[in-house]
Amino acid sequence: MSRFVDFKAVKAAVSLLQVLEHYGIAGKFKRSGDSLSGPCPLHDGQNPTQFRVSIGKNCWHCFGRCNDGGNVLEFVARKESVSLREAALMLCDWFQLPEGEKPADKRSQEPDAKKPESPKTAAKAKAKAPEPDDDTPNKPLGFELQSLDAAHPYIAERGMSAECVAHFGIGYCQKGSMTGRIVVPIHNADGQLVAYAGRYAKSDSHDSVVPLVAPAA
Ligand SMILES: [Zn+2]
Repeated sequence: MSRFVDFKAVKAAVSLLQVLEHYGIAGKFKRSGDSLSGPCPLHDGQNPTQFRVSIGKNCWHCFGRCNDGGNVLEFVARKESVSLREAALMLCDWFQLPEGEKPADKRSQEPDAKKPESPKTAAKAKAKAPEPDDDTPNKPLGFELQSLDAAHPYIAERGMSAECVAHFGIGYCQKGSMTGRIVVPIHNADGQLVAYAGRYAKSDSHDSVVPLVAPAA
């Protein structure tokens, strides 16, 4: 475990909403202005308003049993029962983040985004030399899936807002290598399409496959 990870960059790149979506529980949350509220996913709470997220501040708080709060790293660390570092690495994997590098944000790219890390950040993240393999950037995908249906009922069923579906380019793939799947385009730090993540829509017949189990002897 010598992968380097920049906590600050991960926190800046991933929103709590994306993490809730990753867990497939974003639909349980109601948005009101800058905040989301829903049942606490950390203590499996049932109270629909105990867990609050500030979208602007990208932080959460559970007013129930946890009686605690924090940022996106602390959320994943608690949810997965791992260290903050492991949580940061998991987020890098889930969201294809370049480790130890500030991901480009098209809307708010700062002129100093490329400048070397401040000693403070480096010390905070306890920097180790990155492994050579991790430096390989994701190559842009040579094609783009066509005829993605953003209005597929499964998407609405999962509680994804039209705004979020449009923002992430999510859609039901009607033809191509991802047919029958809800696909999510994945972009690299330069905003280039590098992959698609796909999962079968629940209503799809592909889902009705039942694994065969050998009868007990
Ligand atoms: Zn809680």
